[in-house]
Amino acid sequence: MTTPLKIVLFGPPGSGKGTQAELLAERLGFVHYSTGEAFRTHIAQKTPLGLEVERYVTTGMLIPDEIVLKVVKAFLDDHAQRPIVFDGFPRTIVQARGLDRVLAEQGLELFRAVLIDLSDDEVVRRLSSRRQCRKCSKIYNLTFMPPQRGGICDDCGGELYQRTDDSEKTIRHRLRVYQKETSPLIDYYEQQGKLVRIDGA
Ligand code: ADP
Ligand code: ZN
Repeated sequence: MTTPLKIVLFGPPGSGKGTQAELLAERLGFVHYSTGEAFRTHIAQKTPLGLEVERYVTTGMLIPDEIVLKVVKAFLDDHAQRPIVFDGFPRTIVQARGLDRVLAEQGLELFRAVLIDLSDDEVVRRLSSRRQCRKCSKIYNLTFMPPQRGGICDDCGGELYQRTDDSEKTIRHRLRVYQKETSPLIDYYEQQGKLVRIDGA
């Protein structure tokens, strides 16, 4: 039996992780697992977990590692034997070590960590014009991927909205968090010989 591939996509907010992960899912059959999307669903449904993490997400802070790792472990228990692309996880060294550990427990190993690189100015430009469908979560960009009809999802007719964490102030904060907490993953994966760099522009 071939081992089902596990890939991590990471990079600054707005670098296109979600869009690329979606393509990998459509074209190659990966399960697309976005921790951000999982938490947004919990928040929208007002589950106990959603209520616990809402303040972090709306202010652009990272959710504590223990909470994130618990959620990912539960997901992996159900999907270990599928090819998975992780989008927006891990975001800290502690999470990266946690992922390695949980995979090892299942006799698995991460295949590659793909860094999608993008400058701060380009991040702010992209995120300020990003819109998302309330119903099916599809992502649009008013500048370079606009919907056919303003404010309405091409796929499902749902309403497009701007994420509360996509305001310029919160974007700048998320960028600082990325530099401090997530960019150390570049060295971490380089040392494991698993890093692949892609120019997100
Ligand atoms: P983006 O990559 O554009 O910031 P995400 O949907 O990946 O968007 O994440 C949105 C928010 O969800 C983050 O700002 C953070 O608050 C929370 N979050 C998502 N994934 C993680 C994670 N792995 N660790 C901690 N917090 C996370
Ligand atoms: Zn939609």
